[in-house]
Amino acid sequence: MPRGNTPRQPSRSGRQEGARRALLLKKSAKTTIAKVTTAPAKKAKPPKAAVGKKKSASGYDPLAPERVRQIIAGLDQLYPKATCALTHRSAWELLVATILSAQSTDVRVNMVTPGLFEKYPTVRDFAALEPEQLQPDIYSTGFFRNKAKSVVGAARKIVADFGGNVPDTMDELLSLPGVARKTANVVLGTWFKKNEGVVVDTHVTRISRRLELTKQEDPKKIEEDLMQIIPRERWTDFSHEVIWHGRKLCVARGPKCADCALEKLCHAADKTWSTVEIHKDAQP
Ligand code: SF4
Repeated sequence: MPRGNTPRQPSRSGRQEGARRALLLKKSAKTTIAKVTTAPAKKAKPPKAAVGKKKSASGYDPLAPERVRQIIAGLDQLYPKATCALTHRSAWELLVATILSAQSTDVRVNMVTPGLFEKYPTVRDFAALEPEQLQPDIYSTGFFRNKAKSVVGAARKIVADFGGNVPDTMDELLSLPGVARKTANVVLGTWFKKNEGVVVDTHVTRISRRLELTKQEDPKKIEEDLMQIIPRERWTDFSHEVIWHGRKLCVARGPKCADCALEKLCHAADKTWSTVEIHKDAQP
């Protein structure tokens, strides 16, 4: 270490002023620790309750049925005709479009799929391909190698195990390569009109957390939370409406709260405008 940069230490004699201060601080710290350790148990913080398990001290319950009902009504009002934005004419086209939409935008996917389905009109056409042959057609949606593998793999399994028809149950859909609950829920809810779950994508994750409908970050746990509080017959509509809300108003950065019909029900920490108190835990 260069000369002159050595930190000064209090001398062992304790004569220096710094040393006296250090001793005083040490004593004071001991006193504080003693106070804390002997403090009555009632001062200890209770463990954090999961959202909705208990009301807060103020009586606020973010999962109160009336509040959830008002959120659903607000979404209905904002997006009365919300549906899936991916263009498709069959369950197979919707399945492919949904696989391609991962880490991409619906607009981008909708630019790719018309040409793709013109080139390969049936599920059997896809099943006959090698994934490498499909890659150039879907390149612009990103992650094209994995997506090509998933699409061709799904097509082959549909042909081999389901007679060329996209299956309409959760378990069967989940058996297809590259298909997880989000994709299965899109196909089941949008094409087969079956409410088997809630689609949890990036928009649903962000908005459910802002609205304190869940504290979870894992999509599967978020879906479980939402399925407990949203009436089953509304699962698919709720998903579509929240996804549209995420695109139009409740965007990731700078949500347009002044235009939002849910504003009075929303205590999100990152609101851009608010007439109600902010909850610092209501993080996107
Ligand atoms: S008030 Fe703002 S943060 Fe809350 S849901 Fe509406 S747009 Fe999103």
